[in-house]
Amino acid sequence: MVDLLKDAKYIKGVGPNRVKQLNKLGIYTLNDVINYYPRGYENRGIKKNIADLTDGEEALIEAKCVSKMQEIRIRKNMSIYKLIVRDDTATCTLTWFNAFYLKNRFKVGETYKFFGKVKRRINQIEIMTPIFDSKDTNKNTGRIIPIYPSILELSQNNLRKIIENALIEVKELPETLPDYLIKEYKIMSKTEATKQIHFPDNFQKYNEARKRLVFEELLIMQLALLAFKNNYNNGKEGIEFSKEAKMSEIINKLPFKLTNAQTRVLEEIDKDMESNKSMNRLLQGDVGSGKTAVAMCAAYKAVRSGYQVAVMVPTAILAKQHYENFKKILEPCNIKCELLVSGTTKKQKEKILEQLKNGEINIIIGTHALLQENVEFCNLGLVITDEQHRFGVRQRSIINSKGKNPDILVMSATPIPRTLALILYGDLDISIIDELPPNRQKIDTFAVTPSKEERVNNFIKQQLNEGRQAYIVCPLVEESETINAKSVLEIAEKYKNETFKEYRVEYIHGKLNKKDKDAIMEKFKNGEIDVLISTTVIEVGVDVPNSTIMVIENAERFGLATLHQLRGRVGRGKYKSYCILKYKGNGEQTRERMKIMVETNDGFKISEKDLELRGSGEFFGTKQHGIPEFKIANLFQDIEMLKSVQSLAIKILNDDENLEKEKNIKLKEQIKDKFNQKIEI
Ligand code: ADP
Ligand code: MG
Repeated sequence: MVDLLKDAKYIKGVGPNRVKQLNKLGIYTLNDVINYYPRGYENRGIKKNIADLTDGEEALIEAKCVSKMQEIRIRKNMSIYKLIVRDDTATCTLTWFNAFYLKNRFKVGETYKFFGKVKRRINQIEIMTPIFDSKDTNKNTGRIIPIYPSILELSQNNLRKIIENALIEVKELPETLPDYLIKEYKIMSKTEATKQIHFPDNFQKYNEARKRLVFEELLIMQLALLAFKNNYNNGKEGIEFSKEAKMSEIINKLPFKLTNAQTRVLEEIDKDMESNKSMNRLLQGDVGSGKTAVAMCAAYKAVRSGYQVAVMVPTAILAKQHYENFKKILEPCNIKCELLVSGTTKKQKEKILEQLKNGEINIIIGTHALLQENVEFCNLGLVITDEQHRFGVRQRSIINSKGKNPDILVMSATPIPRTLALILYGDLDISIIDELPPNRQKIDTFAVTPSKEERVNNFIKQQLNEGRQAYIVCPLVEESETINAKSVLEIAEKYKNETFKEYRVEYIHGKLNKKDKDAIMEKFKNGEIDVLISTTVIEVGVDVPNSTIMVIENAERFGLATLHQLRGRVGRGKYKSYCILKYKGNGEQTRERMKIMVETNDGFKISEKDLELRGSGEFFGTKQHGIPEFKIANLFQDIEMLKSVQSLAIKILNDDENLEKEKNIKLKEQIKDKFNQKIEI
């Protein structure tokens, strides 16, 4: 058997240069190559007669070459090449641009297959830049052709060839699912499925192949998630927080009256905390729904019961903001809060660690810094993680392990449809805040095309003149932080020196170091900057009540969930707020997406729509939920499969809790492999 982990550069047709291109696609080994799935397919399998070709379609013909290649020089460096071919029904002209390498490729009298876009005029049929094969080969035509996500430098043809070579090389793949599942569910073998997903014989085979791969992917995810949950003490004996520690004491000290939804979720949390099982609760609520207050009340109860609380958030700015909020309300009750971030000085840090260990600090609020080994608690009883999509499952379990079965409250500002949450979070209990605090002004949202640029700018200035502040967000270009920085810089340049030159304009992007970023955010918060230009680094919940305008450049490039999160940055104060989505393009999907944003402010509705439009979309990527990104499954399309796989996973674990039985070894290995870490299951 070949070594699946061997470097991709040794595959036929690769080499030192091409391997770099593959690396850019995240492909490093032979195994990566064969698991790099197509994003779509083109059916080039059905031949048509030339006479039947219609204008605009893509079609396959089989035709005899009746002329030599004719070169028409248009200007220096620009030539058109034309070839006349015919079948029994008609004649057709094939056209290529600058295709000098094809000059002697075709022989008069020979038959070839051509596939390409048809241009049909009254008395002429033409196919533009067709791809081709000789009569008896099926390399580029004549079958279902996979289309891969690729980069400019690496053509579909080359990539396809590499994958084909890799498949020839591996021949037989080790089966990764247990025999009994393959039999019971009549699943295609790994080898066959891998071949068929790349080069399907027909669409039925493709469906079977996809079904197997989706089944496997979802099953491993479900097993891993359930295992993680068992791992972090779900339902196990936990802390019984005191009935005497009453949340109402702190609720009465809040500067506002809780909404009904907040009260309801607090009752759920209170009950969990008082029970002798440990709490594992997901708190979902739209941006601005008031999750912080809920967290504060839970923390209060834990402290009054004699325990410490850790609040973990994804950024230093956010940690500081929480710290200040907590301090304001809780310190008057004699509860000591502290802040621990990477910027904390050494001396301060030593003191904090000391006081944390001896129990002087009641509540510690911080970033990843809390995960460090030297952070020890006296008696950690409650762990709250905010904006949890930024943390991996693993990071959560590290912080949880710093206490002895602490209660866990995970807060998420990414609303996901309840049906899905139930599956993705398995036996995590879910509380939902589905109501915003009263008197919250609706954020007016406008979707505009570039022609409205000037009006938009004038509108922004009007707001700035009234003393408000504005965010301008530029899209993230996936491949490169450098390009992102550039696009921000270009826009910043223009806005700073031309459009908004009378105002204080600053920019912030992922390439800046943390300290500079924090400094700029701080200035913006203090009102020392009028217009802040940035990439999505501001997405996470920082409060600047005075900013009332959110402009999003190239809004068509963002997922709806992100747009909604971004919009949530404004409308946090007493002023009327606006979100302006600048978009380009006229595609139906783009317009529909913009329409949803304009019409609703409801995060749950938006997430459902996003899921529908984009499949698993951005909700379920690594970044968001600590769940590995799916290679092939699509949580919208495959929801039925997900449901059945979930019950199967539960069944498997009920029968073999630690996956120790011989028959389940393959499953256990895959989980370990995929999550790339030691998990004791
Ligand atoms: P999120 O759920 O996005 O974390 P926050 O907890 O930051 O929301 O709350 C957003 C804002 O709403 C804060 O300024 C907070 O003080 C305020 N707030 C929270 N609950 C209420 C309430 N019941 N009534 C009025 N204002 C509230
Ligand atoms: Mg928040």
